[in-house]
Amino acid sequence: MFKAPRGTEDILPEEQSYWRYIEEKAVATCRLYGYSRMDTPAFEEASLFARSVGEGTDIVNKEMYIFKDRSGNELALRPEGTASVCRAYLEHGMDNLPQPVKLYYFADIFRYERPQAGRYRQHHQFGCEAIGEASPMLDAEVIQMALSFFRSLGLLQFCLQLNSIGCKECRPNHLHKLKDYYAPLAPGLCDDCRARLAKNPLRLLDCKKPGCQAAADEAPKSADYLCIECREHFESLKRYLGVLKIEYTLNHRLVRGLDYYTKTVFEIQPLDGGSQSALGGGGRYDDLIAGLGGRPAPGIGFATGMERMVFNIKEYGIEVPRQEKPAVFVACMGGDAKIEALKTASELRDAGIAVVVSSGERSLKAQLRQANTVGATCAAIIGDDEIKEGTVTLRNMETGEQQEVQPDDLKRMLGAQQ
Ligand code: AMP
Repeated sequence: MFKAPRGTEDILPEEQSYWRYIEEKAVATCRLYGYSRMDTPAFEEASLFARSVGEGTDIVNKEMYIFKDRSGNELALRPEGTASVCRAYLEHGMDNLPQPVKLYYFADIFRYERPQAGRYRQHHQFGCEAIGEASPMLDAEVIQMALSFFRSLGLLQFCLQLNSIGCKECRPNHLHKLKDYYAPLAPGLCDDCRARLAKNPLRLLDCKKPGCQAAADEAPKSADYLCIECREHFESLKRYLGVLKIEYTLNHRLVRGLDYYTKTVFEIQPLDGGSQSALGGGGRYDDLIAGLGGRPAPGIGFATGMERMVFNIKEYGIEVPRQEKPAVFVACMGGDAKIEALKTASELRDAGIAVVVSSGERSLKAQLRQANTVGATCAAIIGDDEIKEGTVTLRNMETGEQQEVQPDDLKRMLGAQQ
């Protein structure tokens, strides 16, 4: 028997109402904030991610699904959404539109991670990007948008964590201090952190291993080494968040795992630290567009994990609208009845009524059982007697009450759309 690959999941029909609920709320939030949807391919040139996410990151080094196609092109399944949107922004000349350009997407994301609760090798993200505007007002608006999206889902038990990791002017200074601080501690660090010390010292700060956490807590903080511009940006952002009455926790260990971030980074975390960890996160990427070869344009965005949201919606018992069930099940017995059933079903559907029709191969009892299983509210039964009389037997599936009706009345009784 085949099984879904490790770290992937089927999204079964009974799960779909959660996904539709999240999508509807996401689309509604994007409408309120003026974002337009775009979709990008599931794979890109691998070098796009190496260039943007960064050569020294776990995502590119260890987690990317990378392959050569039959023409020898080196491709990668997208391990995140921002790089593709920025590539498309440049490719389609969106830098010539009035800025900022505000885009959102739903995308499946592929990372070769160690599968565990809430961590998959294929997961799904809803993300937003606002490209072409440097003001911290936009940072505040993007954060507000992420929070109001979670609130619209009914997810309230989460807090905003905030940090600034500076820019290419001031970050080297911080990295230098980090290296100095960590050098004597290296023997006590985990293997990954020892490698990070050389390649990507910022990532030392968000190591989850208990042995490394104490060192990270005391490490030099990026916010203490910001240049004037980054400091003013961060202070303005905090002021705007205050105006919007958005509470946040400053977390100097929040660095995020992608190299393109500059200045503002943020995450939405569960208050209790559980619930499968971050619901979403994002930040500014003011050098990314230029790094991809475009005219310099700043940007900011966030991405949220659909599976994590589904998990938390269930965890907190949030009611979601159930998928619509078929209004009527058409049951039939006998050859002529089959033809009548087919005709009745198609007339009802033409009138906008959802129908499941039986092929009439099984007993009436079995067909009515099926009507119950599919959740139909009533069954239209057609047999020899009904054909003789030119009627249909309409059965209320809840009460079992039955009545003879004229085919013309059936549509009216089932609430046909005009
Ligand atoms: P990131 O791009 O890593 O910031 O991811 C954005 C959001 O996607 C996270 O906050 C999580 O909610 C979700 N996420 C990231 N990685 C995974 C994964 N492997 N499995 C499930 N959800 C994930």
